[in-house]
Amino acid sequence: MTSFTESEPTHRADILIIGAGLAGLSAANDLQQAGYKVLVVDKGRGLGGRLAGRRIGDATFDHGAQFMTARDSRFKASVAEWIEAGVAEEWYSSYPGQPNGHPRYRGVPTMTAVAKYLATDLDVMRATRVSKLAQQDQHWLGLLDNGETVRATALLMTSPVPQTIDLLASSEIQVAADKRARLERIAYEACIAVMVVLDGATAIPAPGASAFDDGPIAWISDNLQKGVSTIPAVTIHGSGAFSAEHFDADRKLVGQQLIDAAAAYLGEAKVTEFQVHGWRYSKPTVVDSEACMLLSEANGLPPLALAGDAFAGPRFEGAVLSGWAAAKRLIAELA
Ligand SMILES: Cc1cc2nc3c(=O)[nH]c(=O)nc-3n(C[C@H](O)[C@H](O)[C@H](O)COP(=O)(O)OP(=O)(O)OC[C@H]3O[C@@H](n4cnc5c(N)ncnc54)[C@H](O)[C@@H]3O)c2cc1C
Repeated sequence: MTSFTESEPTHRADILIIGAGLAGLSAANDLQQAGYKVLVVDKGRGLGGRLAGRRIGDATFDHGAQFMTARDSRFKASVAEWIEAGVAEEWYSSYPGQPNGHPRYRGVPTMTAVAKYLATDLDVMRATRVSKLAQQDQHWLGLLDNGETVRATALLMTSPVPQTIDLLASSEIQVAADKRARLERIAYEACIAVMVVLDGATAIPAPGASAFDDGPIAWISDNLQKGVSTIPAVTIHGSGAFSAEHFDADRKLVGQQLIDAAAAYLGEAKVTEFQVHGWRYSKPTVVDSEACMLLSEANGLPPLALAGDAFAGPRFEGAVLSGWAAAKRLIAELA
């Protein structure tokens, strides 16, 4: 059988980016702006990775990231641009039981709107997994699960770090011991998300969300009050401990457990339907100390960088900052 490295590549790019989440899309825009031909490949059907939305009948849910906060000045300017473009708005800056704080912004109509906006001018292949990598001369070759291949001068991987480690290992790409140790220290918590359709209004107080420090629920939000859904629709996020303990259990039973635990917030409304999604890598609990990681240092590999929320901070903003940092690093490598 011919190896995928021996046939003519199907696609050519300067930079192949694995992942159309915030890190991948943010890096892609900077790299394209710098004049490089970029191809982004994502195994998901939608854009945005952990910025995920779902519809159940007429109900609409944000079931991944719920909001973003902004501290960095360039990131604040991006949020202002997204608000101007109509794909984001301020949701709230404080809610009952929490001290008054900084603004929380949401995507409009859903969180994925920001990812769609970021992808506007990009070349993105969706529903396509990069299943293997190989070095070909001083280039990267990516094998896609549809049998096609991509040849690129540089590679940026933005998948959750355990998935990145697996792909590098199965592709027999050597990682320096110190960097490997740093990558193996990175940890994530799981999150079981339940999307619940109701026949009436919830008892969740304005602005339509509550966060909890203990118990099985970490977060509950009312997508109708939030402006995401036109009918009553609630997202419940299991806590890290609850989600880890029940991750492999029967999803319908676990979903029902979380719905029961949320009873006081659902008020008089009856559940008409619900779905459950498990995020194995929801938010990093241990992050690396650098904003991105260059794996192709003094080892003869073509330029290879890693980015994502496990590097520049465990949230929406961190993922974007990491994507920008990786783009800067790759631009320097390619110069
Ligand atoms: C339930 C939940 C709630 C959250 N709440 C908040 C919140 O309220 N506020 C906040 O700031 N952050 C929140 N976060 C975190 C936030 O969503 C993430 O920090 C951010 O979206 C991470 O972006 P990323 O680009 O690093 O990774 P991802 O979004 O995970 O993107 C990586 C992409 O790589 C793709 N991929 C992986 N392997 C391959 C492969 N082999 N081939 C092709 N594609 C591949 C994946 O499909 C994915 O799209 C939440 C996350 C979850 C899951």
